[in-house]
Amino acid sequence: MKVWVKALLLCAISLGANAAEVVLNGTLTQGSLIRGQAPVGAEVWFNEQPVVVSAQGQFVFGIGRDAALQHQLKVVHQGKQQQFPLRFTAREYDIQRITGVEQKYVAPPKEVSARIANDSAKVRQVRSTLTELQAIFAEPVRPAAGRISGVYGSQRVFNGQPRNPHFGLDIAAPIGAPVFAPWAGKVLLAEDLYFSGLTVIVDHGFGVSSTFMHLNAIKVKVGDTVAQSQHIADIGATGRVTGPHLDWRINWFQERLDPQLLLPEFTPNQTQRLALTP
Ligand SMILES: [Zn+2]
Repeated sequence: MKVWVKALLLCAISLGANAAEVVLNGTLTQGSLIRGQAPVGAEVWFNEQPVVVSAQGQFVFGIGRDAALQHQLKVVHQGKQQQFPLRFTAREYDIQRITGVEQKYVAPPKEVSARIANDSAKVRQVRSTLTELQAIFAEPVRPAAGRISGVYGSQRVFNGQPRNPHFGLDIAAPIGAPVFAPWAGKVLLAEDLYFSGLTVIVDHGFGVSSTFMHLNAIKVKVGDTVAQSQHIADIGATGRVTGPHLDWRINWFQERLDPQLLLPEFTPNQTQRLALTP
């Protein structure tokens, strides 16, 4: 009898210990996507903005290239509110000088300004998609083989003229080499855009999307469901490029994040455990 009571008590304690924490997977640094696990039923706010939490307690958030370093996670669990300050580290970014870019991409002619505005409105709109696809909680696979020819965050100087920083991971490979879906998802956009050429955007759930740019061929259409590792496109040299490569971007809604921080081959997994006091 005594042993039985003890076993039951131990069981209750270990259940409580499992439930009473929030686990954050990812590097607390600029440009990072953080994937979290809260107790089932908990509510989560990032900097006072509510984040969507799945029925299993999963959620995501991210900060941009130049974001502030001090952030706040608020969790309400079993009616009790707890605040966790999150300190992120600052990154240092390279300057990348690129010459030989066609002048129509450095200083686009007036007649394409409406098209460029329309392209960015469309991209913005599809990146505001919120679904509860669980794909984003899996480990990603690298979308293409090849040399890393450009990294996230670099300040860009095209033909001597400073332009926006680079927000993608560039993988150089021959025209026609396959592009694989890094996670499963649903195709949100598949078309030719002025700067990014043939472009595919795939939703992976919870506001996280991948963008694949400068493609030579697209193998999917809007609304298609894709599996992880599915061949979705071929690498190309369309849009503002100086040679064939894949430019892979990750967004959390409009926030641009660093794909390399999510690939274990570049970034070891880091986990933070935030204890919820009962
Ligand atoms: Zn690029």
